[in-house]
Amino acid sequence: MSWEVHPSYRELRRSAFSSCLLNEDRSGTPPERLLQAVWFHQRLRREGLVGTDGRSVQILHPGFWNREAGPDFRKAVVRWEGEAPLQGDVEIDLHSRGWKAHGHLDNPAYCKVVLHVVWETEAEPRFPTVVLKHQLDAPIEELAQWHGAIPGGSWPPPLAGQCRMPLQHLAPDTQARLILDAAETRLQQKADRLTHQARSQGWEIPLWSVVFRALGYKQNPWPMQKLGELGLKMKEGCDSVGSLQARLLGVSGLLPHELTSRSPEAQQQFRHYWDCWWRDRDSWEEWTLPRSAWNLSNLRPNNHPQRRLALAAHWLHDPAFSRRLEQWGRDGHPQPRELLPSLLEALQPPKDPFWNHHWTLRSSRTDRPLSLIGRARMTDLAVNAILPWILARAGEKPLPEVCKETRRRFLEWPSTQDNAVLRQARHRLLSGEASKPLLKTAAAQQGLLQIVGDFCERSDSLCSHCPFPDFVRGQGEV
Ligand code: SF4
Repeated sequence: MSWEVHPSYRELRRSAFSSCLLNEDRSGTPPERLLQAVWFHQRLRREGLVGTDGRSVQILHPGFWNREAGPDFRKAVVRWEGEAPLQGDVEIDLHSRGWKAHGHLDNPAYCKVVLHVVWETEAEPRFPTVVLKHQLDAPIEELAQWHGAIPGGSWPPPLAGQCRMPLQHLAPDTQARLILDAAETRLQQKADRLTHQARSQGWEIPLWSVVFRALGYKQNPWPMQKLGELGLKMKEGCDSVGSLQARLLGVSGLLPHELTSRSPEAQQQFRHYWDCWWRDRDSWEEWTLPRSAWNLSNLRPNNHPQRRLALAAHWLHDPAFSRRLEQWGRDGHPQPRELLPSLLEALQPPKDPFWNHHWTLRSSRTDRPLSLIGRARMTDLAVNAILPWILARAGEKPLPEVCKETRRRFLEWPSTQDNAVLRQARHRLLSGEASKPLLKTAAAQQGLLQIVGDFCERSDSLCSHCPFPDFVRGQGEV
């Protein structure tokens, strides 16, 4: 049977999908987003692609699309005529002028860029550049329609890793077991590191170091860890949570010198912190971090380090904190859905009149009370800091039943927030979004991250010399 799509629907689709082309710029310059998709899916004349200097260039791998700050594509592999393959980042701009105009020239985040890909240029750029305008595999209007029709976040199949097919050939149980083995390896490695540290520093310093680090989230793990390592020293002589908050904020370099907030509570809190800090600051000078140690760009307010330090001060000031953690590790046998609420309850800080109504020192007061720790951050803390610490501590005593229960909690903990590394790994190693059910526990997510760290980060985008695919094939034969 043959039939045709109704022309009016075809027209509707055409106008909807090409609107991104028409709306952006009536001169016919495509939106940058479309050029990024064209690059990612390599909708180019790949044979015979030339740079602005006339040399031919092969794109061995377009790189992985970076949705955060920095170059648009990471870890591309390109080979210029007569040269060895080169791995680095790719930046996409409408015009070659964008390189200077967007401040990439002096921005260290762009120092690994090996190729500038632009829609058009006037003069010959100094940087290795490819102009797309006349090197596409279809007219740009057609590509705009193609872009509108592909599902958001879709991945070009050729970018799958070499382990994806062998993993897909494994029985589902074997595949899941392999990922959980990687997760348990990760948990044990963290616990072993803590045990090793505890032998020379006791158990409290390693605890604060990992708790602070996890509170730093992905943007600020290092400065937070540094403050965590000083945690015990910070407590000395602090008779209230407020004075400890002032010291942590002062040593972090995040206590502003002036405050422009219109909130009277913020002004009062700011004065209180400075009343404490001006007496303290000389003795802490050698440990005080520069503000430049922090990455404050693109931060959600609830991840702001000022807020994380306010919470850390509550925990650090509590002399029973580590005992409460150990007690939680020994208490009962909570079901998976009870794990997170039970830990939140065990570690919930007392009410904080300022931080329960302000995101940061400069924010206006919120009517709605704000929690200092939420579910996503607590899950990260649990899998990265708390469970490894309890396991290490119980292993040392030794308390085999607590070790067994801690491993069970780790394996059954519900999954945490998605992130860019997991998204990329799902597409590269597994069957993309369809593999989400496989990752319904935090341990499975941790296992995938472990494989990325052990194999992907030691190889390149082309999976050169990666032993993981052969290892996976071997699992299928067991
Ligand atoms: S580098 Fe190894 S583990 Fe990573 S995607 Fe490639 S084959 Fe898989």
